Amino acid sequence: MQSHAKIVIVGGGIMGTSLAYHLAREGWSDCVLIEKAELTSGSTWHAAGQISHSVSHFGLAKMNGYGIDLYNSIEQETEQSVTFHGCGSLRLAYTDDELDWLNYTMSVGLGVGFNMDIIGPDEIAKLHPYYNLDGVKAALHTPDDGHVDPAGAAFALAKGARMNGATVIRHNRVTGIEALASGEWKVITEQGEITCEHVVNAGGTYARQIGQWVGLDLPITNMTHHYVITDTVPEFLELDTELPVVRDDRLVSGYIRMEQKSGLIGIYEKANPNTVWDDGTPWEAENELFEPDYDRISPWLENALERMPILAELGIKRSVHGAITHPPDGNMLLGPAPGLKNFWCCCGSQIGIAWGPGAGKYLAQWMVHGTAEINMRDFDPRRYGPFADRDYQIVKAREDYLLRHEIPFPGLNRTDGRPVKTSTLYGRLKDQGAIYEEIFGWERPRWFAPEGMAREDAHSFRRAPWFDAVARECHTVREAVGIMDLSGFGKIDVSGPEAESFLDRMVANRVPRKTGGIVLTHILNEAGTIEAEVTVARIGDDRFYLAFAAFSELKVRDWLTQHRNDGEDVTVGNVSEDFGCLVLSGPRSRDVLRQVTQAPLDNESFRWLSARTIEVAGAKVRALRVSYVGELGWELHVPMADMPAVYDALWAAGEAHGIGNFGSYALNAMRLEKGFKGASELTNEVTLPEADVMRFCKLDKGDFIGRDATVKSQEGERPWTCVYMDIDADDADCLGSETVYHNGRRVGAISSGGYGHWVGRSLAFAYVEPQCAKPGTELSVAVLNTRRAARVLAEPVYDPASEKPRS
Ligand SMILES: Cc1cc2nc3c(=O)[nH]c(=O)nc-3n(C[C@H](O)[C@H](O)[C@H](O)COP(=O)(O)OP(=O)(O)OC[C@H]3O[C@@H](n4cnc5c(N)ncnc54)[C@H](O)[C@@H]3O)c2cc1C
Repeated sequence: MQSHAKIVIVGGGIMGTSLAYHLAREGWSDCVLIEKAELTSGSTWHAAGQISHSVSHFGLAKMNGYGIDLYNSIEQETEQSVTFHGCGSLRLAYTDDELDWLNYTMSVGLGVGFNMDIIGPDEIAKLHPYYNLDGVKAALHTPDDGHVDPAGAAFALAKGARMNGATVIRHNRVTGIEALASGEWKVITEQGEITCEHVVNAGGTYARQIGQWVGLDLPITNMTHHYVITDTVPEFLELDTELPVVRDDRLVSGYIRMEQKSGLIGIYEKANPNTVWDDGTPWEAENELFEPDYDRISPWLENALERMPILAELGIKRSVHGAITHPPDGNMLLGPAPGLKNFWCCCGSQIGIAWGPGAGKYLAQWMVHGTAEINMRDFDPRRYGPFADRDYQIVKAREDYLLRHEIPFPGLNRTDGRPVKTSTLYGRLKDQGAIYEEIFGWERPRWFAPEGMAREDAHSFRRAPWFDAVARECHTVREAVGIMDLSGFGKIDVSGPEAESFLDRMVANRVPRKTGGIVLTHILNEAGTIEAEVTVARIGDDRFYLAFAAFSELKVRDWLTQHRNDGEDVTVGNVSEDFGCLVLSGPRSRDVLRQVTQAPLDNESFRWLSARTIEVAGAKVRALRVSYVGELGWELHVPMADMPAVYDALWAAGEAHGIGNFGSYALNAMRLEKGFKGASELTNEVTLPEADVMRFCKLDKGDFIGRDATVKSQEGERPWTCVYMDIDADDADCLGSETVYHNGRRVGAISSGGYGHWVGRSLAFAYVEPQCAKPGTELSVAVLNTRRAARVLAEPVYDPASEKPRS
């Protein structure tokens, strides 16, 4: 075995083989994949092999679309059969909410270029005459879907990897991984050691154990899932085409398809889901299956037989009950591991046959080019921190399994296993009706249920029952003063004699030269696309305070620590949990704050976009005069223990001014009115010129990471531009990812949207072809699959001159 390689991939399932193939195709062919047994002998070989275009998540839709294309072409490329059955599929809707889901999926999928349609019961019956359609309203028909032989697919990818120069080693277990002083990794195997630059954990159900070797606690739990195969179905013997796969989320909670001339029924039971190997997968496990547990799946299995009576009297000739990896939110762990350089995750995949090809492609892009062409935020392993302990991992994985065939409502509030991270105001705000959401473990108020309203979240693809409550919160902020607990912010102190020059190299804007200055800026990668948006406040001669979105906490921490030069005199301190954050915003905010601090707050003494340490209710508070809602206001970064005292004092002072709580839904509505971009606009897919935020970039300040690429993007042709628009919506606003049209032609997609309650307009941001970006351009948007007229706006619909925050 060779002693050195650029990359070592541990694990030869669909995820590892796909990554090896795509890395080799990207030119990183000095890549060694090591598998402890036969390729595919983990979860891959026993998968049912389905892959569908019925996906409403934009990134996953891209992955599935790519996967189907690859499965259609790789056989020819490698001469290894993958047996793609292009039978199409049907996803059924019995209720209006399910129909909304299908329509939303259409709104996304058509933009990605998928062949799909919503059809009624008559047409469904023509495609699938054996399904009992009682109660079915419609189905999403995706004719290009199908299923593959999963082992064949992984073998083809492995062969393709070899054909492009990669090495695949079987029957050799990796027994340890160690970090070397050189920054490289030592991979210890049964057949010797390999030193490499990059190591990838593609260990499937073993991935958590592999992570433990290097100090990681990867949030992966193994759930078990069944499918059964019936005896031969006499009716199928007559068929010369294969029936489409049926996904019946409501009654079957799973899928039914033909497996040659038999029926195949897969069930995701909606009660008592089963975990396995919680303390570690036995190393000797190979092609492991479990005894079927019919009691667990029987209610849904019975429904399946009732829905497809031709299967009802047949025996079951084979049952497959195997393990699948589930991270807490069900998305893969795809990207850099937290805290480690060049240690990558390619694991935690619950539908790896569908996701594997795309996962390999986009992770390879990230590793080779520093970024991928799709937004990787939802897959980034650094979205989990120590808050995701083993109890949380297991509870959330079980919840995720149960949700597999539930409607993926926008903002679906997954409540199991919470709270794990709360600010010291949690109880107070809960008593006042806060409906919390979870973000990087933190509980963040989403909206406040008024007296008399049920204190639980409501979900819909349309305007939900919280709509009026959010409207009232927006009015409180715009007319008087609102207060919000935004403690989840990522917060980092950067200090030391070289802090200024270091940060100037890290970000695109010029960092403040004077103490008290604040800038909004972006961390870019070498490709010039956005890693994070960060507020930088200079709080001392050689001290800066960085605040940014909660989910970027570990990403920004790692970025800064890993880009520090040897010997550079800079300290990076993560203070995210030391400080809470209270947002005080609205025309009366100065009147309120003035009553609880001696610090002068007039425009002369405390300018817009400046920071001071002030005393509030006896606490030393980092006060930043900024406002994401576009009002006069402050962000008060308060030592966590002092949050209750500060909140109480502000509330007491504010009562005479009409103070009220607000949550993230109102925050989103108001930032849209102000035309402020958010996390969905500022992603690893786009450069600053594409995002139209060059006013936050100083090209003349000297070099910084991503500068050359930014210049190139500014001077060259851009694939898209971010535009701000209003939409003639009905009772549903844009959720993100909907297709945008110009004169009937697809020209882009929505990045985020919502309703501006103060201005009474539906608003959104979208990425569109640059020739459609001119203000006044008439566009249309597929909102729940209905085209709605939209216009590109020249300026924010609220306070375009930004007079209010400066008042
Ligand atoms: C019943 C069932 C049906 C399914 N149906 C579908 C479906 O229809 N569509 C779909 O998309 N997905 C389906 N899945 C899910 C799919 O099987 C998994 O998501 C996928 O196989 C995961 O692939 P992987 O590469 O991450 O893991 P694995 O296939 O488990 O690969 C990991 C590999 O790493 C190796 N390894 C681990 N540790 C080491 C080590 N220390 N040294 C060397 N090698 C090591 C293992 O031996 C293993 O081969 C199904 C799963 C089940 C259980």
